[in-house]
Amino acid sequence: MTESCRSAQQGRTPARLGIIIPCYNEADVLPRTLPMFLDELDSLKTAGLVTEDSFILFVDDGSKDGTWDSITSYALRNDAVKGVRQSRNRGHQNALLAGLMEVKDSVDVTITIDCDGQDDVGVMGQMIHQYVDGSEIVYGVRDSRESDSWFKRASANFFYRLMEKLGAETVRNHADYRLVSARVLREFANYHEVNLFLRGLFVLVGFQSSKVYYTRERRIAGQSHYPLRKMIGLALNGITSLSVKPIRMVTVLGLMVSILGFCGVAYAVASLFIARTVSGWTSLTCIICFLGGMQLFCLGVIGEYVGKIYLETKSRPRYIISERTGEFPWTGNAK
Ligand code: UDP
Ligand code: MG
Repeated sequence: MTESCRSAQQGRTPARLGIIIPCYNEADVLPRTLPMFLDELDSLKTAGLVTEDSFILFVDDGSKDGTWDSITSYALRNDAVKGVRQSRNRGHQNALLAGLMEVKDSVDVTITIDCDGQDDVGVMGQMIHQYVDGSEIVYGVRDSRESDSWFKRASANFFYRLMEKLGAETVRNHADYRLVSARVLREFANYHEVNLFLRGLFVLVGFQSSKVYYTRERRIAGQSHYPLRKMIGLALNGITSLSVKPIRMVTVLGLMVSILGFCGVAYAVASLFIARTVSGWTSLTCIICFLGGMQLFCLGVIGEYVGKIYLETKSRPRYIISERTGEFPWTGNAK
């Protein structure tokens, strides 16, 4: 690393940090985890890693219990605690987005973390260090899945393999415990899609990234809001948001069925001459084989266009520049 690079990176600290914490019906959990988050923020401030005006922003995702009351009463007592409340429950991903967009222009860096104490707050320091070393995104990654049931472990493995096969880039065993710099957030704000799968979208934004490993504990209190039905929903959302390969598979399937259909037609015609077949069997078999293959293939072709329209409607940025050699806009005398 060059000297000028190093001094530029040292200029990244102390950074103004915003810790974003989504909460939905967490009145039992908050009084136990909130002091934990505040302690960690204080120790980051004492270590000189983050500025004194760094803060925690709780996003109440339309809770129906006393979650918002807890947030407001803590916010009154401590300047470092802030809160926003969504008009109704919109789901974890949208709550995270609301918090990130709320702070993107007033902080240098954000860390998102669940409020139930499962993610280890102790690695936040490491995340900030990696940010200082040049990472714009630091993914919190579980070092093992031993605390999960056999089923959750197997289904998570299956999901990551499937995502890889479908060409959708994700970080294995990373949920939404993540450091993201304000710079990335400003680029991310140009992604206008409504079906959110944040852990995959930040990978799409790019920039230098790194990982920190931690052990995920059990929930301190309360129940998970992600039963199997919602887990499957999130996984399907991830696949369909990041990949149009399932549509392409229909085209390939259509081609394969067409080839099989062609063989079927040849077989039916040959049978007509070699062995005597019942009258009408050959023509019926030919029609079924031909139509079956053609229909599936045509559906696949239509699907290709639907896939393109789908990608266009997202109007994702077509490029993001990460560095330039000189001053921008380019100066000089144009002839
Ligand atoms: N959450 C939210 N809105 C929802 C569901 C969950 O803001 O509709 C929050 C929840 O309070 C927690 C985080 O998202 O802070 C993760 O939820 P949970 O712990 O239930 O998920 P799990 O860890 O079991 O996957
Ligand atoms: Mg949890």
